[in-house]
Amino acid sequence: MAYTVPKLTDYSAAALTQAAEECTLSCREEEAAIRNDDELKTFRDRWLGRKNGILTQINEVWLKGAPKEAKREAGIRVNELKARIQELVEGAKVAGSASFHSSDIESVDITLPGARRPIGSEHPVAKTTRELVAVFQKLGYSVADGPVVETDYYNFEALNFPPNHPARDTQDTLFIAGQQSKPARERLLLRTHTSPVQIRTMEKMRPPIRIVIPGTVHRNDPPDASHSPMFHQIEGLAVDTNITFGDLKGTLDHAMKEFFGSSVKTSFRPSFFPFTEPSAEMYVSCFICGGSGRRGSDPCRPCKQSGWIEILGCGMVDPNVFEFVKDNGYDPKKVSGFAFGMGADRIALLKYGVDDIQLFFQGDVRFLEQWG
Ligand SMILES: [Zn+2]
Repeated sequence: MAYTVPKLTDYSAAALTQAAEECTLSCREEEAAIRNDDELKTFRDRWLGRKNGILTQINEVWLKGAPKEAKREAGIRVNELKARIQELVEGAKVAGSASFHSSDIESVDITLPGARRPIGSEHPVAKTTRELVAVFQKLGYSVADGPVVETDYYNFEALNFPPNHPARDTQDTLFIAGQQSKPARERLLLRTHTSPVQIRTMEKMRPPIRIVIPGTVHRNDPPDASHSPMFHQIEGLAVDTNITFGDLKGTLDHAMKEFFGSSVKTSFRPSFFPFTEPSAEMYVSCFICGGSGRRGSDPCRPCKQSGWIEILGCGMVDPNVFEFVKDNGYDPKKVSGFAFGMGADRIALLKYGVDDIQLFFQGDVRFLEQWG
């Protein structure tokens, strides 16, 4: 039943409250019954119309009819009610406006096949990383992780990089700007290798440890076919009592056979890294030409006809590195260990026969879907 403004005889607080509630309830019921835009307009005019709208009537009937002593209280109540009704009416919508109308039938054809979402595939670098990490996990290594934005201390100092080492030059390292006021060891940079995670892990875990560390690293290298300012490393560290260079060779030889196939051979050649002593570069026999250096009558390019491909750097952890974590059980007189690191992108290039590292990071689906 449509609402009509009642005359008030009782101006007590309770009576005013009840009258206001009845009015609000009626307004809500009328709003809920609106079925189309015409009805919505009629509803608005009925309640808010200036000349004879319900709010105007309430003003007239309730306020002007109020006895003198009740005028103030009635005025406050009527103003509250008007604000509430106004908000309600202005926010009113056609009921069920979001629901299904018969005029929409032609836009929904339930016999059409569902929308098919294309399924992505693993990025070749991610796949290579996962497979290599899995090889070491099977040997009992656990996966460790660390920040990409690193301090000078973890990236260089604790890894035995001397102050004038060229790797600390801005030519090679991307430093975070505005760090000049900090002491050198606290300055932030983008880690140039995953090796800081070795120190961070040794600070947290006492020996023995066996960890493998996959991660993103950055260097200030201009991009070309074999360089990218962002690339990926996989690093490993094993520390225990009586770890020898023989353990290093046996572990890495096994890992390479697992990853590239049981026919590959490994070869170690002396090298230098600040954080290992002695250090070596490990080569695997070329898994593309089988070590012959030739592919049919053509020279094998990936191994530069040598029959060997350099895969990683490794060595025995330098006792100077253990000195930084000596208090956590890494006394260089009691423990020894080996570390190794390889470029996941480079190995993916070799494995998938890709000749430009940039292709990995350009996000061109036509390139990436070849490994889907
Ligand atoms: Zn080859």
